[in-house]
Amino acid sequence: MLIGIDLGTTNSLAACFRDGKAEIIPNRLGKHLTPSVVSVDPDGTVYVGETARERGALHPLETAGVFKRSMGTEREYVLSGRKFRAEELSGLVLRSLKEDAESYLGEPVTEAIISVPAYFNDMQRKATKRAGELAGLKVSRIINEPTAAAIACGMGSRGEDARYLVFDLGGGTFDVSILELYGPIMEVHAIAGDNFIGGEDFTQLLCNMYLERAAVAPESLDVRTMNEVYKMAEACKCAFSERNEVTMCCPIDGHAYEMKLTLAEYEKACAGLLEKLRRPVERSLRDAGVKLSEIDQIVLVGGATRLPVVRRFVSKLFGRIPGFTVDPDEAVALGAALQCGMKARDKEIREVVLTDVCPFTLGTEVLVNNGLFDESGHYLPIIERNTVIPVSRTQTVYTAHDNQTRVNVKVLQGESRMAYNNLLLGELSVPVPVGPKGKEAVEITYTYDINSLLEVQIHVLSTGVRRKVIIQNEQNRISEEEAAARMENLQYLKQNPRDDEANRLQLLRGERLYEESTVNNRTVIDRALMEFERVLAGQDRTEIERARKRLTKTLDEIEFGVKH
Ligand code: AMP
Repeated sequence: MLIGIDLGTTNSLAACFRDGKAEIIPNRLGKHLTPSVVSVDPDGTVYVGETARERGALHPLETAGVFKRSMGTEREYVLSGRKFRAEELSGLVLRSLKEDAESYLGEPVTEAIISVPAYFNDMQRKATKRAGELAGLKVSRIINEPTAAAIACGMGSRGEDARYLVFDLGGGTFDVSILELYGPIMEVHAIAGDNFIGGEDFTQLLCNMYLERAAVAPESLDVRTMNEVYKMAEACKCAFSERNEVTMCCPIDGHAYEMKLTLAEYEKACAGLLEKLRRPVERSLRDAGVKLSEIDQIVLVGGATRLPVVRRFVSKLFGRIPGFTVDPDEAVALGAALQCGMKARDKEIREVVLTDVCPFTLGTEVLVNNGLFDESGHYLPIIERNTVIPVSRTQTVYTAHDNQTRVNVKVLQGESRMAYNNLLLGELSVPVPVGPKGKEAVEITYTYDINSLLEVQIHVLSTGVRRKVIIQNEQNRISEEEAAARMENLQYLKQNPRDDEANRLQLLRGERLYEESTVNNRTVIDRALMEFERVLAGQDRTEIERARKRLTKTLDEIEFGVKH
């Protein structure tokens, strides 16, 4: 079975195409969103999702989140003495989604279409693919998130021909895409974005405002208090969706400073972040050669577009209120599932040919004569950004020096005129026959496939020697043995049993609330937890269910003041 997965910075979710429609797959707790959080306890048991997030409140050093931002980098997270890269943590999230899907669908899930921010570079895409493999999934396609969202909108509405601008602000990334659906073709015209802005930055800003007003230096806080401040800021940020004023209050060293903040004040403070959102919008319109007035639908995607500050900014920018045709949290997963239906050529789905573009320019470094002398370090674009993919382009370069023995090709990504400002994706080299400068010609061919994965081929014309590589970041390259070993390590991590997940979650929540509470509530929580642990030890499933409901009710009353 093939499923679609939105592997998000903050939350992930899976969907499938069944009985003629895309359907969100609930997780083991019956929820649609699984937080992209992983926690590992000292005996090597792994927790994923809400349980991991709850554990994170108690054990921040054993818990990781927001790791999507580090995909494709060498950053290592140490959780309970074990090292993980972002792709491995993502692999654990994917494994959990896979298991939930198998249990929900009642059949093995072996393949997935995974979405990534359009602005993800080659290394980040490959890391995502490896994450899928680590979870035991064949990644049959990597799809750009905005493209998936537009599919969900295009197919979801009556399928009318229209030009869409997808404004996708997730937890950690921002993408803008311009797409057009006409007849049987869904064409992506342009993509622009910023990998370093997202909803988390709006939360961080609120944290900073709070600490500044409370006159607390962030460096003086321990990880746990910092996490609490962050959590409180996150809750306040989301509360702005319903209220025009929020009160943030968090105990720091026994003092609880109270900050009242109006939406207008917050909006003013967000000006810098909002400004950062403007540039990619303008660039995408320019690249697509489209005027704002020619856009039929503005689609808001990603949790952070729920923020009134962001919505107001979008309305001002576009001079109209964006339509909400799909749930901004679910659009990408539903689009990925529709893509599954298209791939399986399901007869219930309209046949649509999807054309996508590459978001960056890809090129190489060359020597250029500036009229006086040869100047090195210039950038030679080979595939220009927003070219329709799949695409293959060739450029011929010549030897730059007399008696040169090899030609080195730097594979670069970026828009700068100078090579060193662009991102080095890899390097390869071929021998050339010795001779005068300019004699030997070498063809460099870049092929960008439908998943936006890059293959580079160099060809020395005189000798016929060819070198071909699928570009991987040199430092980030892992050997096959290492990949196998890493996979094996992940297999050995114990998993919290699925049917125990809801129990574990309430236990952890109880522990956290105990720590956050004062005497009276502590006694109540302590008693409730002991009672639940006693029932758990009895192993009677019906009794456990009942006891968990009682415990949840008690904890809800304490945490939210909710009386059932
Ligand atoms: P995503 O990566 O699409 O799951 O988006 C996650 C981001 O959306 C996080 O930064 C959340 O804080 C943010 N978010 C979710 N719900 C809301 C809300 N009601 N108001 C403001 N931001 C929200």
